[in-house]
Amino acid sequence: MNTLKKYIADTLAFILLLLFERGALKQIENQVLSIYFHNPSFVLFKGIIQFLVRRGFHFISEDEYYAILSGEKELHKRTAFVSFDDGWKGNLKLIPILEKYNIPATFFIPVRPIITGNFWWEFAPMVLNENSEFKSAEELKKMPNNKRMLLIRDVASRYELKRSCIDLSELKSLCKHPLISIGSHTYHHPITIKCTNEELEFEYRESKRTLEDWLSTEIKSFSFPNGDYNNRDLTLLEENNYKMAFTVSPELNSNTVSAYQIPRVSINSKGGKFENIARMLRIWHRFVQPIQEKHKKAVIFNAELSGN
Ligand SMILES: [Zn+2]
Repeated sequence: MNTLKKYIADTLAFILLLLFERGALKQIENQVLSIYFHNPSFVLFKGIIQFLVRRGFHFISEDEYYAILSGEKELHKRTAFVSFDDGWKGNLKLIPILEKYNIPATFFIPVRPIITGNFWWEFAPMVLNENSEFKSAEELKKMPNNKRMLLIRDVASRYELKRSCIDLSELKSLCKHPLISIGSHTYHHPITIKCTNEELEFEYRESKRTLEDWLSTEIKSFSFPNGDYNNRDLTLLEENNYKMAFTVSPELNSNTVSAYQIPRVSINSKGGKFENIARMLRIWHRFVQPIQEKHKKAVIFNAELSGN
């Protein structure tokens, strides 16, 4: 079913691209197209990068992005910025593609998974299994940070999972790579808006300090886990001397934003190439998302009517 859905979405996106790609590319000229990946397949990553290369995009590093935001550097007509969140082990196999096309990228790394090997949400299914009051991992994200951490730590102490995050020596070699920059993605990858002030201060301070200790380099950038942030986060970025921070908001008008709220378009690791290109160019958001949202609302409405 999921394969069929993916195929239909990709075919629809392919048709939309035939019709609207030229106009959509025009709209993002003289802006930075900022995209980010989690754990894409080699084929999907290569497909997206080749699309951008063939359309003449110039790829910039986070330092060049900062220089553009500060008005010290001119933009190319078509400019793209590539980043990765979380430090998935699967990202390592994508480095040859970055090298082949000479593409700089920033990897946003949470500290704790580098040490333990896994992300907290990998233990969420066990928590849900053992606690019937929770229906989904989304519910865990809405809990106070310390309560969620207690539940996760309890199962994590009893289950052994295969490492899915890169380890410290892999992080060190990524950092030494001339095309790659490392940014912070907090210490524990919490939902920052669910942290106490003390917890949040730790996340911003200790992630930067630990990464700088490990890598002997200045950590200048940050990406918000789960995309959540508020004024507390923005203050802590400044207090801890971060220079720039990346959101998960896809607005493409990136020339006018603050360096602490830089837009990014999420590449869906489970989606097809054309669906993701249509997302990247905002064609998907314009034509398909409103229909999907209408459908979602209709489903909720019907469920309410039938008393579910
Ligand atoms: Zn993340």
